[in-house]
This record gives sequence, structure tokens and C-alpha cells, in this order.
Amino acid sequence: MENSVGYNPSFAEEVFQNVHSGDEIKMCMNCGVCAASCPLREHMDYPPRQIFSLIRAGKREAVLGSEAIMLCTSCYTCAVKCPRSIPVIDVMHGLAHYALTKGYMPRVETARFGKEFWNQVYRIGRVDEKDLPRRVFFAGGFMEGIKAMLNFMDIGIKLLLHHRMKLLPERKIKGIKSLKKMLDKAEVLEKGGAV
Ligand code: SF4
Ligand code: SF4
Repeated sequence: MENSVGYNPSFAEEVFQNVHSGDEIKMCMNCGVCAASCPLREHMDYPPRQIFSLIRAGKREAVLGSEAIMLCTSCYTCAVKCPRSIPVIDVMHGLAHYALTKGYMPRVETARFGKEFWNQVYRIGRVDEKDLPRRVFFAGGFMEGIKAMLNFMDIGIKLLLHHRMKLLPERKIKGIKSLKKMLDKAEVLEKGGAV
């Protein structure tokens, strides 16, 4: 529990124990190279260096509610530049996953995209560039979907004109049954079960 000034003394230990690669943060020397090199830093409420400092400072709500942990695009710039070879990406994604399991939803758009992406790969074994955005756009309701469609219409038209997007729906891959079996097993393993 956090006290009145938002300090939870056991939060760092909680991260070290439960977040994928969370204990790697112990090696961070707070140099800021990751934050300076991150192409998304301007859109993040807290860049990676600051997230790691907040963890040490016991700021549980700030970290698990931070948009930054769901904004990382796995570009690997920070991982290549970190002088301590800390897997910043793994920690950021680990924090996002942990936040979701604890009932936090820092970026609803990212969560929707992840869910629809997974569902589509599970269903047909690949991504359909028309169907995926349509499902993501309309996941928040009809009006929200129409607005998003209009916003992205020019990009869609350009993709069609340059043959980067097909008009017809994508078909299932040949080995879809085997892929589903693999994904089912992966899901069981992730939940800590045995396969
Ligand atoms: S670059 Fe590495 S050591 Fe420096 S602040 Fe980022 S994670 Fe920490
Ligand atoms: S991997 Fe993520 S945190 Fe690292 S530089 Fe890229 S977007 Fe930023």
C-alpha cells in the first residue's frame, strides 16, 4: 500500500520478483542514455530512466499507471546503447503485462490493438491489414470507429494505390491447426501451467 505521499516501500521488491527481467533494474546507474535515445520520449509521461527511478522510489501507482510502459515499440535503440546492457524493452513490456494483470490499463488503445492482433493471428495465422485496424477502431464503439476510419482514410487509400494492402480478405494459413496448438500451449505456459 502507498502512504499519503505515494510511497510504497515494497514496490521495488515486487517488481524484482514479479516483472519479467525486473531484477535487471538493479544494474541501472541512471545515466539517462536510454531516455535520450528513445524516439518516443516526447510522447512518454516518464521515459525509461525515470520509470526505473520511480520503481526504486516506491511510486507504484505512477509506474503501473504510466502510459510509457505501453508505448514502447521494441525499436531496440535503448538496449543497444545502454552501458549496463539492461534489457530495457523486456522490462518495459514486463511492466505493461504486470500492470494489466493487476487491473491497470494505462493505454486502452494499445491494449485493444494487442488483443485484436492476437485474436487475428490465432484465427487466420497472419495479419489482415484491413481487418485488424477496422476491429481496433470499432472496439470502442460505432461512433469512435467511424471517426478513426475517417482519420486514417487517406493512409488506407495510399496503401491500396501502392498495392500494399489487398481489397480481398486474407485467407487462413495452411498450418493454422498446428499454429493454434502452439499458441494454446504458449498461453498455458505463460499462466504458469504445465503442457
Ligand atoms: S541507459 Fe541503461 S544504465 Fe542508463 S539509465 Fe537507461 S537503463 Fe539505466
Ligand atoms: S525499445 Fe522502447 S523504450 Fe527503448 S528506445 Fe525503443 S521505444 Fe524507447
